Amino acid sequence: MARSFRANVHQMSRAERVLLLLPTSTYRTADFLDAAESLGIEVVVGSEERSTLESFQPSRLLTLDFLDPEGAADLAREFHCRYPLNAVVAVDEETALVAAAISEALGLPQNSPEAALKARLKHRMREALAASGVPHPSFTVARTGDDPRLLARGLTYPLVLKPAFLSGSRGVVRVNDPECFVRWFEWLSAFLSTPEIRAHGGDEGNTVLIEEYVDGREVALEGLLTEGRLRPLALFDKPDPLIGPFFEETIYVTPSRLPEATQKEVARVSAEAARAIGLCHGPVHAELRLRGFQNESESPVVIEIAGRSIGGLCSRTLRFGLGISLEELILRHALGRDIEALARVAGASGVMMIPIPSRGTLEAVRGLEEARAVAGIEEASITAHLGKLLVPLPEGSSYLGFLFARGPDPESVEGALRTAHARLSFEVR
Ligand code: ADP
Ligand code: CA
Repeated sequence: MARSFRANVHQMSRAERVLLLLPTSTYRTADFLDAAESLGIEVVVGSEERSTLESFQPSRLLTLDFLDPEGAADLAREFHCRYPLNAVVAVDEETALVAAAISEALGLPQNSPEAALKARLKHRMREALAASGVPHPSFTVARTGDDPRLLARGLTYPLVLKPAFLSGSRGVVRVNDPECFVRWFEWLSAFLSTPEIRAHGGDEGNTVLIEEYVDGREVALEGLLTEGRLRPLALFDKPDPLIGPFFEETIYVTPSRLPEATQKEVARVSAEAARAIGLCHGPVHAELRLRGFQNESESPVVIEIAGRSIGGLCSRTLRFGLGISLEELILRHALGRDIEALARVAGASGVMMIPIPSRGTLEAVRGLEEARAVAGIEEASITAHLGKLLVPLPEGSSYLGFLFARGPDPESVEGALRTAHARLSFEVR
């Protein structure tokens, strides 16, 4: 009785305050702010761009340099003295490093900075997986200054070349032979030396992974870790073949159509991967391939595990309990509230990240109404701006937009996404 009375007094005295770290490139600002509003939480937006409003709303805005986690932690500590924070939430891998540093400084539950760094840097992740015996592609680490002709000789093909620190498949290329390797290694070296990329790479900006190409279907697991225990929230199939040379994400559909036993195995291996890296608290997004899927003996191999939630606008496919969003679930979890009872709502759902067809200026988008009219389509959102330059993979970092579908089963959801996409046309000049 006395305890709940105290809790109520506390709630009346002030709303809980969450520091939300928002990179300028994120698609998710609105979804997180909506979630915070419906929970009655006060959000402090931590961003890199100083807002002119900061002096008017000093308790709501905090400018931080995301490339300097320690400096950000110092600023957050000062802020916390004036405006106490209850949790820190990051939306991507770069801000996850900052969230870890800040949480450590403030004594809030979060992944350690070491774990966040391992999740962010692909060679560190691979080394941690290898040390714990978690299935992963075999790999070697190179530097952009290395001689690709020398490297090319000792390798087994096909393989995958990738930078250590980027995301969204940027710079990830499948290479089938030594000649192709030399060409793409040189391309990747040049790409990683462009100023925009260098600014984010830091000391590891010129690290390149050379990995065994793992053949097989790919899935993505979305989950939440609490004190080291992984709770899977959703398993997505990626029904489009991802065979390279570039790996553009397109369709994600949940629930997975894989056999129950395989799904359990994916969850088990994902939990092992989180443990190997030291991720223990907050959202996780894992990508795995099923090696040997065609020959019965399918076994999950970890391509990546990140201490963040699903990217783009893809979280909109997910609803929990009586319809709350993933962002709301994440905020509740960050504040230590009980979310065990909130299961994903029944039925199937999916998203298509609309691929960029070619490099050029987006002049027109047609067929949006026709796409929205397809049965099962919930939302069709074009996020690219007319008149802007579209850059496809392996360089680009954005999508044309997103299609969302919901239906009784994964097949109808996938069908709706494909039909809607076929009705869209993009004029790129
Ligand atoms: P990013 O962090 O940029 O998303 P990933 O390592 O997840 O980089 O690679 C992006 C995609 O490239 C994966 O989702 C997968 O489809 C493909 N890929 C990456 N590494 C491999 C590999 N070793 N074997 C097969 N496919 C791979
Ligand atoms: Ca990935």
